[in-house]
Amino acid sequence: MYKSKLLDAAGFEKHGFTKRAGGVSEGPFESLNLAHDVGDDPEKVAQNLRLFKENVGVDMPLARVKQVHGVDAIDGGEIAQEDWTVPPSVEGDAIVTPKNSTVVAIQTADCAAVLLADPETGAVAAIHAGWRGAAKGVARNAVRKMSELGASPGSILAAVGPCICLMCYEVGDDVARLMPESCDPVKGKPGKFQLDLSFAVEVSLIGAGLTTPNIERLDACNSCFSGELFSYRRDGGTCGRGLGFIVS
Ligand SMILES: [Zn+2]
Repeated sequence: MYKSKLLDAAGFEKHGFTKRAGGVSEGPFESLNLAHDVGDDPEKVAQNLRLFKENVGVDMPLARVKQVHGVDAIDGGEIAQEDWTVPPSVEGDAIVTPKNSTVVAIQTADCAAVLLADPETGAVAAIHAGWRGAAKGVARNAVRKMSELGASPGSILAAVGPCICLMCYEVGDDVARLMPESCDPVKGKPGKFQLDLSFAVEVSLIGAGLTTPNIERLDACNSCFSGELFSYRRDGGTCGRGLGFIVS
């Protein structure tokens, strides 16, 4: 599992970004697929989620959302399930929760899961950020919700999890045009651009009021690191999903 040094150092040790190994799924989902809605055998997904829960080692409910590349931040307490194998039903792309309440998790394969933690209040969040999320400001909504719980944006820590890298992420003019100037994609092949998603997410976090020293970007690409992570692009759209999670 990938970990953030920044979150560890601040006392949020129970967090991580799962890798591909260690589960029971087969074929394109081999092996630790933690998503229900990607075509994998539901029994195997449930077994993987039980293994994941053992690994996390906390007896708390789990909050997940049905991710739709939108900007809605959901209250974790409203959607948390004691049974971690229950598929999420509420749509959203960020989950926010106060201290000692739930585990929040976001599934990804190329997009970034972003974990936020506020050392003052103990509030945490998990965000799903692809290019749409970065451009539309899903981070801002999550940070606002954390502010309602007493957190000040300047003290919030962020870990941007593994995601598709600049070299692997080719986008069209339509996407490039929507990105803020500060993370303008670089020109690639004719009519194409290469987008640094991790950096675009950092820019969106700074736009939400976080400071650069409080943001850590993990250096891991879903597509390059073929043995370690699921990649939607590399695997032609059929693959498993890993989870970025944090315990409040
Ligand atoms: Zn790459």
